[in-house]
Amino acid sequence: MEFIQDHWRPCSSCKKPIGYRIKFYECSVSTCTGKRTGYVFCTVHCWERHLPGARHRDAAAIEKTSPSLEQWKAELANDPLPAANKEPQRRVVTTSTPQSASRPPMQRAGSTSMDNEILVVVSKMKTYVKEKADYNTSNDASEVLSHFIRRLCDDAIDRARADGRKTIMGKDFKL
Ligand SMILES: [Zn+2]
Ligand SMILES: [Zn+2]
Repeated sequence: MEFIQDHWRPCSSCKKPIGYRIKFYECSVSTCTGKRTGYVFCTVHCWERHLPGARHRDAAAIEKTSPSLEQWKAELANDPLPAANKEPQRRVVTTSTPQSASRPPMQRAGSTSMDNEILVVVSKMKTYVKEKADYNTSNDASEVLSHFIRRLCDDAIDRARADGRKTIMGKDFKL
């Protein structure tokens, strides 16, 4: 594994860079966690994405903190040091069977009370469409839009987390 100055390793799912000294996720299954070749994931969602192919019977995402630049340099320089650090392990997600493949694509683990709610102001949206084109808007349009908003928010959360923030900002949204 080569040493890269500006980040630690890329996420094994989405290839986004995982920085030094930040939270990342590792699979609890030993075949997924070789010292240098093991998978590392930037989010629990990215960890979930390897499940359908991996066919684990029982797996969890383990929250860890990536090494500092100095630790990683040392690790690559002298072989037998263990990967990552020794902070206590926390199992954040458990799943008995890799069912995520058959799950509807709109849903992710960590469901919320808003998963099936309408997130747009329907009357205002209808007014906009009416004034713009004098068209009507059917009710299922707001359901689909709400799904889009949830997905955009999920992605924005991933970006804010990768950036070490707990507030999602305008710049976290990308179409
Ligand atoms: Zn990722
Ligand atoms: Zn795994």
